Amino acid sequence: MKEIFLMKLGEVVLKGANKRQFESKLRANVRRRMKPYGEFDVYLMQSTVYVEPMNDEADVEGAWEACKSIFGIVSICRCRPCEKNLDSIFEAVEEYLGADLDCAKSFKVESKRSDKQFPLTSIGISQEIGGRLAEAHPGCSVDVHHPEYTVYVEIRDLAAYVHGPAEPGAGGLPTGVGGRAMCLLSGGIDSPVAAYMIAKRGVEIECVNFFSYPYTSQLAKDKVLELARLVTRYSGRMTVNIVSFTEIQEAIRDNCPEEYFTLIMRRFMMEISQRIAKHDGCGALITGENLGQVASQTMEAMTVTGAVVDLPIFMPLVGMDKEEIVTIARKIGTLETSILPYEDCCTVFTPRHPKTKPSIGQVEHAERTLDREALIERALENIERVSIKYGETDAFI
Ligand code: ATP
Ligand code: MG
Repeated sequence: MKEIFLMKLGEVVLKGANKRQFESKLRANVRRRMKPYGEFDVYLMQSTVYVEPMNDEADVEGAWEACKSIFGIVSICRCRPCEKNLDSIFEAVEEYLGADLDCAKSFKVESKRSDKQFPLTSIGISQEIGGRLAEAHPGCSVDVHHPEYTVYVEIRDLAAYVHGPAEPGAGGLPTGVGGRAMCLLSGGIDSPVAAYMIAKRGVEIECVNFFSYPYTSQLAKDKVLELARLVTRYSGRMTVNIVSFTEIQEAIRDNCPEEYFTLIMRRFMMEISQRIAKHDGCGALITGENLGQVASQTMEAMTVTGAVVDLPIFMPLVGMDKEEIVTIARKIGTLETSILPYEDCCTVFTPRHPKTKPSIGQVEHAERTLDREALIERALENIERVSIKYGETDAFI
């Protein structure tokens, strides 16, 4: 049975002069995302991306699931294409949606005619098809106000399409139209959600993770790579830079006042992340920081940790409640992995009484005995870069 997907564009349609660039990016993204599922023809017309399987070998179910995580799309539906005449449309609805109608108590037909050559108006099409369907399904009556089921008929340029209710798309903007940003990815709940939220705005994501072997284990590293892999379902391929942080953390422990440990450590994280970001063409940093969540996430602490970088720092979760963050983590499928109990390097050498209202002067004084530049350079020399693509790597067992 021939079936194709119609994916309606979201904000992309509003973008005036950039519209073309946005659309071609989106089309390329959809083509790439369909590749693992067989041969699909992907074309874009009338603010809609059409995804059409080219043969019976195509994995339509796999492709359909993948479509739900493509940014730039507001709604998606599976349709049956047919010829642009009432008999073919009726036949297509009967074959394709007849079983659904038999299960419903009431229905209506909603039509849209973007091909103005078609002789009937939208209302005329709905009345005609609705009348025929009501006769064919005596148990299901027409109810135009509160129908249990809606049949959609769209008369477009190439063909007519019939379908049932659409599903929501992933929203946002097509990946790649908003540049690239570097996410500081820990193994927690917040940072994968932060990466997802910025990716949703059309931004390509790269990640950096600080890893303190032997204080943190291989399992902790695998967990971070698995989180990155889960995010790639939305963001597309990404590189994760694993930075060994042991020497820096030990230097802080041995040379700095305890109450400043976390702040100084976070300043190193920001600075190292920015250097990798600039080298790789990223225009911003992303963190999962959230105002007031922990001692290092007060305004004063953010001032101190942000002071060592000049790229903008995106903190998409800054004003959210934990429950709201957890809801998104659950929706995008990262929560279960995030709550696995492996330690993060932030939990190594944590101060008993962290400074919550630091000033830049105090922190600079507290870290003055460290050779920052030498420590940063050595950390940069030993980066492990892991390339991750959804569906390819199973980093975590
Ligand atoms: P998360 O749930 O993302 O771990 P958190 O609430 O535990 O966040 P912190 O541990 O204070 O908060 O970290 C704040 C942010 O700093 C994280 O959201 C993340 O962006 C970054 N970060 C923390 N630890 C690491 C790490 N080991 N590697 C890379 N980035 C990190
Ligand atoms: Mg954390």
